[in-house]
Amino acid sequence: PRRPIVAGNWKLNPPTRSEAVTLLRLLVANFVNHRDGNEYPDDDDASDGPEVVIFPPLPYLSDAIRILEGSGILVGAQDCGMHDGGAYTGEVAPSMLLSMGCSYVLLGHSERRVHFGETDASINMALRGCLDVPGLRVVLCVGETLEEYENGMLERVIDEQLSGCLNNVDASAILRDGRVVIAYEPVWAIGTGLVATPSQAQAAHAAILNSLSRVLRCTAGEVSDGAIRIIYGGSVTPDTVLGIMDMPDVDGALVGGASLNADSFTRIYDGTN
Ligand code: 13P
Repeated sequence: PRRPIVAGNWKLNPPTRSEAVTLLRLLVANFVNHRDGNEYPDDDDASDGPEVVIFPPLPYLSDAIRILEGSGILVGAQDCGMHDGGAYTGEVAPSMLLSMGCSYVLLGHSERRVHFGETDASINMALRGCLDVPGLRVVLCVGETLEEYENGMLERVIDEQLSGCLNNVDASAILRDGRVVIAYEPVWAIGTGLVATPSQAQAAHAAILNSLSRVLRCTAGEVSDGAIRIIYGGSVTPDTVLGIMDMPDVDGALVGGASLNADSFTRIYDGTN
């Protein structure tokens, strides 16, 4: 069975370092308390319970890595550049993120696509750059807009995004090593309170599995037996996570707004366990 994953994407929040540090300390307190009851992830037994990852804004990464050390909570960056070094002012290289203690990089979030011009091709370059750095893993976001959903284009949009973003990526890094997690984030569900129903999420996750077998040129069985995990994101709350996690092809949650509250995020973790 695939290990569930619950991830918190803080986006551009909170506004100050001291608030970030407070939130990180609250998370540690919550998770260590639970762990003492033997329910929560432990560095000694990494396969115990869902994997937990926090994606804070870049300026808070080193605080997050320091404060979360030993808590069992991993840290990731919300985006990264496609170059590994050189004359690229303002960019961040995947190897830099790994070397400071990041385990994950979030790529292809719809907010990056809509506001900052990221495309499947640019996301593909960054993703391949991340996979060139051993030890770094990627959460790759895909998802359709409301208009696309209403026009029955979900499968086509997902297939296009996956084939563009995973172009020339070694299938074994995905299927055998599980270094890419796919996050299904319908744009219409992000920050809107309009969470996908469990059956909508399940249908999209099944479409992703189907598309992966085409993109990675393997059988549906190889994909479903593989190490790839598909998580759902979009208005996940402690109340909605249970129904979504009940679905056979949902391996976890990517949480935005509710991850800014330590208690909500901990309750969502409970729902993925
Ligand atoms: P919300 O949970 O705030 O809807 O955000 C989802 C998201 O975009 C996570 O990456």
